[in-house]
Amino acid sequence: MTERTSVDIGWQKLGTALTHTGRSGVPAEGSYVNPPLERGSTVLFPSLESMARKGQERYNHASIYGAMGSPTQHELEKLIAHIEGGKDCQIVSSGLAACTTPLLAFLKAGDHCLLTDSVYGPTRRFAENMLQRFGVEISYFPPCASMAEVEEYVRPNTRIIFTESPGSHTFEVQDIPMLADVAHRHGALLFLDNTWGFGIFAPFEHGVDVSIQALTKYPSGHSDVIAGAVTVADQANWRILRDASIQLGQVAGPDECWLTLRGLRTMGVRLAHQARSALQIANWLQDRPEVARVLHPALPDCPGHTLWKRDFTGAGSLFGVVLNTTYTQQNMERMINAMRLFGIGASWGGYESLVLPTTGGITRDFGEEQPNDPAFRLQIGLENVQDLIADLEQAFNALHHAP
Ligand SMILES: *Cc1c(COP(=O)(O)O)cnc(C)c1O
Repeated sequence: MTERTSVDIGWQKLGTALTHTGRSGVPAEGSYVNPPLERGSTVLFPSLESMARKGQERYNHASIYGAMGSPTQHELEKLIAHIEGGKDCQIVSSGLAACTTPLLAFLKAGDHCLLTDSVYGPTRRFAENMLQRFGVEISYFPPCASMAEVEEYVRPNTRIIFTESPGSHTFEVQDIPMLADVAHRHGALLFLDNTWGFGIFAPFEHGVDVSIQALTKYPSGHSDVIAGAVTVADQANWRILRDASIQLGQVAGPDECWLTLRGLRTMGVRLAHQARSALQIANWLQDRPEVARVLHPALPDCPGHTLWKRDFTGAGSLFGVVLNTTYTQQNMERMINAMRLFGIGASWGGYESLVLPTTGGITRDFGEEQPNDPAFRLQIGLENVQDLIADLEQAFNALHHAP
C-alpha cells in the first residue's frame, strides 16, 4: 500500500473539546471537576411566576419537570452539539429514538420519506410499520446511487431524505453534499444517522439538516448505556424538534447522561487507538486467502474510499469482511463460534471487540448491493491488536475444517 492513510487525525483533534465542553460552572471555587449527577422529577420554584418564566425557556434547555431533561442531560446536549457542529441538541432514550423522534417531528400524513437501502434495520422497521400506518409513503434508494439516480426516487411530496454513512453493515459511504443538494432543491430535509462518523464527519458543513447519534456506541463507549442524540443547525428546526421531544416524553435518564459524559472525556484516545487497530486488522484480513473483500472505507480498494478521504477526518473501528465464494454461511458461522476474544453480540463502539454475521441478517430492496458471499462485521476494541489477529487466525482454521 503506497497511499498513507490516517484514520486518527479527527480523533486526536477532539481532545480539548471533549475535555472542556459540557462542564458548566467548572471551574468555580471549590467545585468538583465533573458536573454533578442530578436525579429528579419535581423541580421546585419560589413562586408561580418564576415557574412560568422558566417554562418559557424550554428552547434554552430549561426544565420545569424532569421529563423535559435533567441538568446533567443539558450538559451532555451542549457537548454533543459542539462536537457535531450544530446549533442545538436533544438527548433521547436510545439511538433508535434518535432516528424515530425527528421522523415523527418533521413528517405528516401524505408526505414521502426516502431512505437509503443501507439504513439501520430498526429504522427501516419503524418506517415500514409506524410511519406507513400514519399515512407516510416510504421508499428506498440504492446507497451508491448517482445524483441523477437519486433524483428519480424523489417524489413531489418527498419531505425527508434519510441516510446513513457508511451503512453500519455494508459500509457504503454516501455523497452527503450531493444528497443535501438534491434534498434542498426539492424542498426536503436531509437526515443523517452519523453514528459511525461522530467526531470525524462534520454533518452541518456538508449540508445535513438533522444529525442522529446512537450515544450507546462510541460516546458512552463502555457497553453500559442506551441513549441517543438529535442535533440540528437551524433555530426553526430546533423548535420543531424540541416541541416533539417534549410531546413524546423523550428524555434519557440522568445516570445515562452522566455515564455518557464520562465516556466522552476519553473518547478521543479510545477511538484513535481503536481506529488504528481496526485498520491494521483490516489490512491483515485483506491479505488472507479466505477473504474476498474488506469493507473498510479507509482502504484504497474500498468503493467508498474517495468520498471518505474527501469528507472524513478519521475512521471508526467497525468494518465488514466478505469471505470467498468457496465458503458457505455454515462455514462462517463455525468460524465466528470459534472466536474467543470477539464477543458475539449486538451493538458496537464499546471498549471490547465484537463480531456479528452480516449475511442472513439484513434486509435490502436492491439485492445487487449486498454481499452474496458469507460476510461478517467486526468491532475492534482496546485489546492488544496482536492478540486479536491471533484470535482471527485460529478462527480461520475452524473455517477450513469441514463439519
Ligand atoms: C446502534 C445503532 C442505532 C441505535 O442505537 P440504540 O441506542 O441501540 O437504539 C442507530 N443507528 C445506528 C447506525 C446504530 O449502529
